[in-house]
Amino acid sequence: MIELPEAITLANQINRTVAGKKIIEAEAAHSPHKFAFYNGDPSAYNGLLAGKTIGEAVPRGAQVEILIGDISLLISDGVNLRYLYANEKVPEKRQMLITLEDNNKLVASIQMYGGLWVFPAGDFDNEYYLAAKNKTSPVTDAFDKAYFDSLFTDNTARLSLKAFLATEQRIPGLGNGVLQDILFNAQMHPKRKVGSLSGDDKNVLFEAVKSTLKTMIEKGGRDTDTDLFGLPGGYKTILSKNTVARPCPVCGGEIMKEAYMGGSVYYCPACQKIG
Ligand SMILES: [Zn+2]
Repeated sequence: MIELPEAITLANQINRTVAGKKIIEAEAAHSPHKFAFYNGDPSAYNGLLAGKTIGEAVPRGAQVEILIGDISLLISDGVNLRYLYANEKVPEKRQMLITLEDNNKLVASIQMYGGLWVFPAGDFDNEYYLAAKNKTSPVTDAFDKAYFDSLFTDNTARLSLKAFLATEQRIPGLGNGVLQDILFNAQMHPKRKVGSLSGDDKNVLFEAVKSTLKTMIEKGGRDTDTDLFGLPGGYKTILSKNTVARPCPVCGGEIMKEAYMGGSVYYCPACQKIG
């Protein structure tokens, strides 16, 4: 599932590859899917998009918004977006196919769930989209230590670090995936309570959020997800489904995996203290 580093990577790749190209045809909902979400009638998408030129792609948390004339196409996490050259085979299973003037294509497919929303530019009432647009992105300079400190309130003291960092859209695009290496780098346990953090701990956590995301973005996203060309990201995850059988890279101990708050958490019980 893509998160902020992968959304930034996808947006950069779209801007380099398809921005400025005209759409010849836009097909949506080719393959039926219970958890593919569209805005309005997907058969109207062609009328809204055909003939228009692809503008800028903008990362929005874990989503990517592509501006197409006076229309936005918002692609959520859970959507696999691929660029196809004219001579490549179009997959039979797909939820969206955009054919460009040079006959290259963008094809989107959804595995578990995902949104492919088309709407008048900027005007969409979706909580993830609005949070990503209105809240401070952790990769901006505005997300500084003072801003990070402002996220701690009386209500957050009882939360675990996972709940604090990766739920409620508190930090747009920071989800359960990137969380794992942030907490590993901070040497903190996902279940540790926010209220147990000292002032120094908050500094360490802030630095881990900034530096881990920065590295993930510089490397073109995590190796657990694929980019616009179907290639895994260049960031080698420390803790993920890819590394679960390996020993801790710091102490050599066993990495634990457990279900916690609607997703797996990975941690080294020796390096990541619970409090
Ligand atoms: Zn360890």
